[in-house]
Amino acid sequence: MIDGLMERLGVPTTAYRQGSHAVFTPIDGSRIGAVALQGKAEVEDRISQAHEAFLSWRDVPAPRRGELVRQFAEILREHKADLGELVSVEAGKITQEGLGEVQEMIDICDFAVGLSRQLYGLTIASERPGHHMRETWHPLGVVGVISAFNFPVAVWAWNTALALVCGNAVVWKPSEKTPLTALACQALLDRTLARFGDAPQGLAQLLLGDREAGEAMVDDRRVALVSATGSTRMGREVGPRVAARFGRSLLELGGNNAMILAPSADLDLAVRGILFAAVGTAGQRCTTLRRLIVHRSIKDDVVARVKAAYGKVRIGDPRENNLVGPLIDQQSFQAMQDALVQARDEGGQVFGGERQLQAQYPNAYYVSPALVEMPSQSAVVRHETFAPILYVIAYDDFEQALRMNNEVPQGLSSCIFTTDIREAERFQSASGSDCGIANVNIGTSGAEIGGAFGGEKETGGGRESGSDAWRAYMRRQTNTVNYSRELPLAQGIVFD
Ligand code: NAD
Repeated sequence: MIDGLMERLGVPTTAYRQGSHAVFTPIDGSRIGAVALQGKAEVEDRISQAHEAFLSWRDVPAPRRGELVRQFAEILREHKADLGELVSVEAGKITQEGLGEVQEMIDICDFAVGLSRQLYGLTIASERPGHHMRETWHPLGVVGVISAFNFPVAVWAWNTALALVCGNAVVWKPSEKTPLTALACQALLDRTLARFGDAPQGLAQLLLGDREAGEAMVDDRRVALVSATGSTRMGREVGPRVAARFGRSLLELGGNNAMILAPSADLDLAVRGILFAAVGTAGQRCTTLRRLIVHRSIKDDVVARVKAAYGKVRIGDPRENNLVGPLIDQQSFQAMQDALVQARDEGGQVFGGERQLQAQYPNAYYVSPALVEMPSQSAVVRHETFAPILYVIAYDDFEQALRMNNEVPQGLSSCIFTTDIREAERFQSASGSDCGIANVNIGTSGAEIGGAFGGEKETGGGRESGSDAWRAYMRRQTNTVNYSRELPLAQGIVFD
C-alpha cells in the first residue's frame, strides 16, 4: 500500500520494515510497517548531537537560517500529494484534510522565512544620561517536540520552522501511532539539509520512541524547551517534570470546544459550521466541536437539521471522496462507546454513534457521528472524548450560555453564531469566552497559521504558530550600554 509513497518521499524500506514496533493503518487495520524504537541511550546521543549543532547554528545569521526553511517549503510543495496521502493512510484523515495538513506545513514555513528578518526587539528609554537600553532575542537551545497522532506532520512543522529560524536545534518524538509520516518528514528535511549544504550535522533529529523515550527527553537539561502536544494526561506528567529542572515547556493539550448558537443566528451557516467542526477528522481534532449550547427557542429545529445533515455524511475509506474516515484504533472506539453509555446514564438521548462498515473492515473502526441531547453539562460533557460526539444543551439567556461555555476544565477553542453585535462583542470581551480561540460566525476548528494557536486552563497555556509565538523559542536579554564618562546608578542611588 505504501512502498511507492515511501520511496518517492525518500524513506528506505529498511527504515519501516525491519523494526519491532508494528504500525497499522486505521483504514482497514492492516499492518503497513514496523519501525525500530529508540531507547534511552539513543535519546541521549541524539540530544548530544543536537546540542552540538545548536552551538554553531545559533551564530548563523537569522535570514540565512530562513533560507533553509524556504528550501524546505519548496521540497514540501513538490511532495505535497504524496505526503498528504501518507497522512491519510497512517492517520485516517480524508484526502482533503491530509493535503490541508501539508499545506499548513508550507504556510508555516513561508511565515517563518519572513520572520527570519523580523525577530525584532525593543529599544527602551533609559532614565540615565548617556545610556541606552534595548531588548534582544537570542536562540534558546535544543527544542524537544512531542506530537500527537492526529496532526502527525503539521504540529512538528509549526515547531520546527519557527525553532530553526530562531537559531535552535530540534529533536522530535512523534506519536507511536504515526512513525511513518515522521520518517517521511525527516527524509524531506534531510534532503533539504543536504541541498542547503552548510547546516551543522544533527540540527534536526527524529526520535522514534514510546513514552519512555519521551520522558528521557523531558528530563534532559540540555532540552531548553519541551513543546508537547497531546492529551491533558500527558501534559500533567510532562509539565511538572520540565518545571522541576527549570526548563521551559509549551503545552498544547486537550480541548472541549463549544458553540453558542443564538436565536438571531443565520442557521444555514451555523449548521454547515457545526457539521465541519463536529465531524471533520472523525471528531479527532483538538478543536473539534464537542458542545452545542443552543437557545431553547431554536433547539428542536437545529437538532432536526443537524440530524438530517449527519444522516447524509459519507463514511468510509478516507481516500475515496468520503467526509468521515475511521477512528484511529479500537481503544478510541471503545472510549467513544463508553462515553455514550455514560451519557445515557446521565440522562442523555443518543442519536447515532454506531459502528459502521464492520463487515467490510472487521479490523477498522468507522462510526456514524453521535449527537447527544443532554439535560445539563454533567461529568461526561466536561470530559474530552476524542471521537465524534456532539453534546447539545439548551440555554435560556445569554449570560447562562457564556457561563456554560466557560465551565469546563479545558480552554482551547470556542465560537458564537449570532447576528447580535452586543453578544458577539461580549463573547470576545474580557468577561466573555475564557478560551485561547474565540470566533464569531465561524466554527471552532480550522485555524489559520497567522494567529497564535493554543488554549488556557487544562489545554496548557502554550501558544504556537503565528503572531509572536516565536518568542517562546528564544531567550530575551535586556541590555544597557553606558556611552558617557559617568557611572550614574538607577533609581538615583548615590554610592560614594
Ligand atoms: P497522547 O497524550 O496519548 O500522546 C501524545 C504524545 O505524547 C505522544 O507522542 C506520546 O508518546 C507522548 N507521551 C505520552 N505520555 C508521555 C510522557 N509521560 N512523557 C513524554 N511523552 C509522553 O495524545 P494522542 O492520543 O496522540 O492525541 C490526542 C490528544 O492530543 C487529544 O487530547 C487532543 O486534544 C490533543 N491535541 C491537542 C492539540 C493542541 O494543539 N492543543 C493538538 C493536537 C492534539
